[in-house]
Amino acid sequence: MLNKTLSLIFPTVCIRCKRIAKHGFLCPDCKEEYEKELSDGCLSCGNPHGKCRCDSKYLNNEKLFYAIPYKTDGVSRSLLLRMKTSNNRALVSHLTDKMAAVLRANGIENDYIITYVPRSPIKIRLEGVDQAKILAHSLAEKMNFGIENLFICRGAKEQKSLEYVERDIYARSRFSLRIGAEEKIKGKRIVLVDDIITSGATVKVCSDLLTEAGALDVICLGAGRSVKY
Ligand SMILES: [Zn+2]
Ligand SMILES: [Zn+2]
Repeated sequence: MLNKTLSLIFPTVCIRCKRIAKHGFLCPDCKEEYEKELSDGCLSCGNPHGKCRCDSKYLNNEKLFYAIPYKTDGVSRSLLLRMKTSNNRALVSHLTDKMAAVLRANGIENDYIITYVPRSPIKIRLEGVDQAKILAHSLAEKMNFGIENLFICRGAKEQKSLEYVERDIYARSRFSLRIGAEEKIKGKRIVLVDDIITSGATVKVCSDLLTEAGALDVICLGAGRSVKY
């Protein structure tokens, strides 16, 4: 009742264009455009987004999945950027529905635990959101997987400002395992969640830390992926 009243006073606006969105977080026009972006599939390999076969510079495509594209000027990009700076529950649930569907479509349904790429404490303070953690918790619930917080993140510099080689070195220096994490990793199959995967450098570093600590399998899963088309 309260929600209904609030939505009359503060009608939901479209995340992309700020027009009134009657249902959900997109207006009808943006929703239509978004559905087209999804049904177009990967503009690089042509496969549906859940089955994109594009390698990243760092990861074999069998270990790298994502739910929606990060399309330049696209609705998908607006959704992903909003997700990075707000805890919009409807949006998070929408993204983790898609992430769960990708896992199921690829036979990743049992015997996995979930962990996530953490944001640095400074970034969390600035934005108020630890988005991969929020996604991971929602996804774990939907998949009925256990969830573990395994990493420590230092440094807040956004990697997009760095050159390819610098990114690699910088990513390595940013992450380490928490004390006692090895016991939770050894012998486990793990889904590593991140918000947006670009070069794949970050998930590769975290994935390597898991493998070195004895994980049997590591699958990297982004809500979005930015592929260079
Ligand atoms: Zn709109
Ligand atoms: Zn692709």
